[in-house]
Amino acid sequence: RSGPRFSMALRSDAVSVAPLLTKLKRDCATPLPVLQRVVDAMSQAMRTGLAADGGSGLPMIPTYVHHLPTGNEKGLFYALDLGGTNFRVLRVQLGGKEDRVISTEFDQVSIPQKLMSGTSEELFDFIALGLAKFAQKEGDEFHITPGRKREIGFTFSFPVKQTSIDSGILIKWTKGFAVTGTAGRDVVACLNEAMERQGLDMRVSALVNDAVGTLAGAEYWDNDVSVAVILGTGTNACYIEQINAIPKLKGYHSPSDRMIISTEWGAFSNGLPLTEYDSDMDAASINPGEQIFEKTIAGMYLGEIARRVLLKMAQVDGLFGNSVPQKLSKPFTIGTPDLCSMQQDQSDDLQAVGSILYGIAGIEANLNARRTVVEVCDTIIERGGRLAGAGIVGILQKMEQDSKGIVLGKRTVVAVDGGLYENYPQYRAYLRDSVTELLGIEHANNLVIEHSKDGSGIGAALLAASNSMYKHDA
Ligand code: BGC
Ligand code: MG
Repeated sequence: RSGPRFSMALRSDAVSVAPLLTKLKRDCATPLPVLQRVVDAMSQAMRTGLAADGGSGLPMIPTYVHHLPTGNEKGLFYALDLGGTNFRVLRVQLGGKEDRVISTEFDQVSIPQKLMSGTSEELFDFIALGLAKFAQKEGDEFHITPGRKREIGFTFSFPVKQTSIDSGILIKWTKGFAVTGTAGRDVVACLNEAMERQGLDMRVSALVNDAVGTLAGAEYWDNDVSVAVILGTGTNACYIEQINAIPKLKGYHSPSDRMIISTEWGAFSNGLPLTEYDSDMDAASINPGEQIFEKTIAGMYLGEIARRVLLKMAQVDGLFGNSVPQKLSKPFTIGTPDLCSMQQDQSDDLQAVGSILYGIAGIEANLNARRTVVEVCDTIIERGGRLAGAGIVGILQKMEQDSKGIVLGKRTVVAVDGGLYENYPQYRAYLRDSVTELLGIEHANNLVIEHSKDGSGIGAALLAASNSMYKHDA
């Protein structure tokens, strides 16, 4: 009979994991008909959400941003950016048409884990303190007209029901935040109270989502930008909509015929190719049943999906030998950056894959196991990138249908920001492939998908400038 060594060799044979891998690939597959189904469902969910709040549509949040920056914005402005992972402060001296951005300075800290599940006061005190420290270091190259208050563009990267350009109520937290006492409150009021506690006399002139800030920041340099997408810890997209295509705004006296709509597409869920790992992860999350598109394509979750697959392969098929590596049972042990580095290992012996697995969970994986791991990573990344591409085409299709063909017939720019998009070339490539397959070569050639790095900070400052309390001086 076979000794333990022999049976171990048998168990770690890649062939024995084939059924699970095959099933994973089948469940995650995104051939053209599946992509097109997602595109159609996305356009439909946009329309439903524009018609009325609640129900099966996307949130489709009116932002009250009617005018994108013109280039004439002038003066000293601050921006605050509370994202999923980092908190950033920025100041920018805007010089108007000729000079544009004269100088900028920024600071970034990662958000301490304990603040993500603390109280609202703790979180906003942390923000106000960070701002106070940064404001103190304002150098001579920045100047404000005497007698004026310093004004802030506040980028708040969570779903907010805007009540005006400078106020809005937090609908719910996403991306692992579980802060008590903020949902249902005006986040600008929360910030104002914290600034008061810090003795800081500044004014929030614009409250914007990060996607909206990115659109404003990118459009400042390129007038063809009409869609912005965030692919980072979380995901969202916004675009320029015609007022008469937003039935739920009936009765609102709009100062212009256009408004930016923040889709909050992370909440989308119709027609997605999902697996048992996705539903298990969702059930174990702090927001079960919510943000399903986000959980399928965004940075916070891709590594975790892969971990769940590998754990099952270890338990059922002995992927890593006789015992299941203990750490593999711990949620979020595999981060999306790990997953992407493993997927990018080009070496014959998959050296990097081996050392990453060892580093994060003490896993000793033979070559066959490493190969399987790479295939799992690739499957998850491919599905994420291709579905993100389908989401973008969903927005373009909706715009195209309404405008009777003028969107894709000319140069159109989609500005993208976020760590996932920025750092993972393979994700970007899958996204681009899917867009090209869906649009066809000709339309795809008119479409520029460009990385707009940290555009949301400058964008928020620009929107603060357009909405400045002093804008009628001068
Ligand atoms: C939030 C959005 C945000 C996106 C990207 C999502 O979880 O709901 O408001 O724009 O993450 O940061
Ligand atoms: Mg961000």
